[in-house]
Order: sequence, then C-alpha cells, then structure tokens
Amino acid sequence: MADLRELYQEVILDHSRNPRNFRKLDPADRHADGTNPLCGDRITLYLKLDGGTIAAVGFQGQGCAISKSSASMMTDAVKGKTEDEARALFESFHDMVTGTGKPDAKVLGKLTVFAGVSEFPARVKCASLAWHTMKAALDQSDKVTME
Ligand code: ZN
Repeated sequence: MADLRELYQEVILDHSRNPRNFRKLDPADRHADGTNPLCGDRITLYLKLDGGTIAAVGFQGQGCAISKSSASMMTDAVKGKTEDEARALFESFHDMVTGTGKPDAKVLGKLTVFAGVSEFPARVKCASLAWHTMKAALDQSDKVTME
C-alpha cells in the first residue's frame, strides 16, 4: 500500500514550488477556468495556437501541491504539441490517474510521477483539474468544474 507521502516526490514538490509557465498570456487564443470545489483548487489556463499547434501556454491559480504541480507539468507537456496530440495526452493521463488504463511511460514520460494518484480517489480531481481545463480551452468552453 502506497503512502500518501510517496505522492509528493521530489519532482512534484519542485513543480509546486516553482511552477513552470505560471503567467497570464495576453492576448490568448483560448482560455478556460477550472475549479475543484472539493479541495479548493482553481486554475485559469491560457493557450496560444499557431495553426493546429499549441504555441504557448500559461496558467494562473491556486491550490494544493498536487494540483499546482500537475498544472505546471501539463503546460510543459502540451507546449509544442498539436491539438490532437494534447487531447490524446489528456486521455492517457486521465486513464492513468483514474486507474482505467495502463500508463504508457513512452507517451506520458515524466507525467508518470502521478500514477500513484489512482490509489487516492480524493486526489484524482486535484491531479486532473489542469488537464480538464486544458481540454475545455481547446473545446472553447469557458469553464469546467470537477464534480
Ligand atoms: Zn487539490
């Protein structure tokens, strides 16, 4: 049985303390607000698109270490990806943290540090909030609330 502390691996702590791409993009082509009321996590995500490619990505918000580090790592992961690649990555990440699929380390890379989250149902929404918000931005819906 994994201990919750194992979730807070070095890489997660690093990203939560020094989040990457933690800025508003102005102007942005897409943006969306995500909230996870259960934990109090909030994120606003900004995307700049160039053709079908995510040219720049930024986020602002506040929340627990898991939500913040997941948002930071998500922004790093989708930058330079096409919309389709970003959506595919969302699916892989979602399958991993909900435990519905086998994580493909080749696809997910560093994101596999969140694999342990699947054992903590209350943390799944923290870890996936930024991803749902990114997908909402691509879908051009302004808001997503984790229920
Ligand atoms: Zn949280």
